[in-house]
Amino acid sequence: METYEFDVVIIGGGPAGCSCALYTSRSNLKTVILDKNPAVGALAITHKIANYPGVAGDVSGDELLAVMRKQAVDYGTDYRRAQVFGIDVDGPMKTVYTPEGTFKTKALVLATGAMGRTSSFKGESEFLGRGVSYCATCDGAFYRSREVAVVGLNQEAIEEAQVLTKFASTVHWITPRSLPKDDDHAQHLVSMENVKPWEKARLLSVEGDNGGVTGIEFKPRGEEPRILDVDGVFIYQSGSKPITDFIGSQVEFNADGGVRVDDMMRTSVDGVWGIGDIRNTPFKQAVVAAGDGCVAAMSIDRYINQRKSIRPDWNHS
Ligand SMILES: Cc1cc2nc3c(=O)[nH]c(=O)nc-3n(C[C@H](O)[C@H](O)[C@H](O)COP(=O)(O)OP(=O)(O)OC[C@H]3O[C@@H](n4cnc5c(N)ncnc54)[C@H](O)[C@@H]3O)c2cc1C
Repeated sequence: METYEFDVVIIGGGPAGCSCALYTSRSNLKTVILDKNPAVGALAITHKIANYPGVAGDVSGDELLAVMRKQAVDYGTDYRRAQVFGIDVDGPMKTVYTPEGTFKTKALVLATGAMGRTSSFKGESEFLGRGVSYCATCDGAFYRSREVAVVGLNQEAIEEAQVLTKFASTVHWITPRSLPKDDDHAQHLVSMENVKPWEKARLLSVEGDNGGVTGIEFKPRGEEPRILDVDGVFIYQSGSKPITDFIGSQVEFNADGGVRVDDMMRTSVDGVWGIGDIRNTPFKQAVVAAGDGCVAAMSIDRYINQRKSIRPDWNHS
């Protein structure tokens, strides 16, 4: 099996990984991105993205990601399709294992995102990005004056349903249990005119056609299943889960499963950074992930070159 040596190995080629690579390559650091499949990350499956600064109009996440990737490659990043199945972070040179070869690196960046939650409802994965969403902040504006359903009773579901009340004509809120009487936020939500709660109800399937979601089938406890006509379904069952299986316990994690980092995106292990959704950031957005990538790259530059302070790329004085 071939062994390759790099200054920087980035695992994951989403907005976090591509932004980081753009900066490290421009800093003349020999950089490789290893990505198992450029079509399966959170940005890649985003149907339309309208809130990435500087990108006007709706583009698909896939198109935006292709531009980010090309920009990094044009500055010298080596981009390889490879699924990482293990790492070894002991010592100054880190090791990354893939079926395509072994990679040795001075700086290792973990950027595999948070797509770990598997679709659990019939029709959920089929209509993901075509009416099924996990992000009201991202997609809420597409549902102006339309009916949507929010599924779940965790804090994320409550906050996201609140966001949807600004756009949707009706927010159907499907909750597996009764609404907690002592939760002010939940009670405020159900008091809103355009929120219709369906307590003690279970989502059975997401229905749709070539144009996307047309409705959901759900079952209120003790009643027959029923169909609701909605254009969008926002599912918050168990939250998204950072993809960290290849790391084992080699870096520290937060209680929510995100990789723990400091302000420079450094993990608990010297020479290892964590960026983007793998941190389980409270606001999972492409621009946040890209920002993380920039911070990590500048920190890596300093780490590798033993610089005394971070010098921004644009300061040529
Ligand atoms: C349906 C949906 C809609 C969204 N809409 C918006 C929006 O409108 N606006 C917005 O700003 N944000 C939106 N987001 C959020 C945004 O897409 C994410 O916050 C962002 O993509 C996170 O970037 P990332 O680089 O951390 O991870 P990702 O984009 O998920 O990229 C991770 C990469 O890691 C790779 N990978 C995973 N495991 C391995 C492995 N073992 N080896 C090698 N490679 C691996 C994957 O193939 C993937 O390419 C949306 C998310 C979803 C799911």
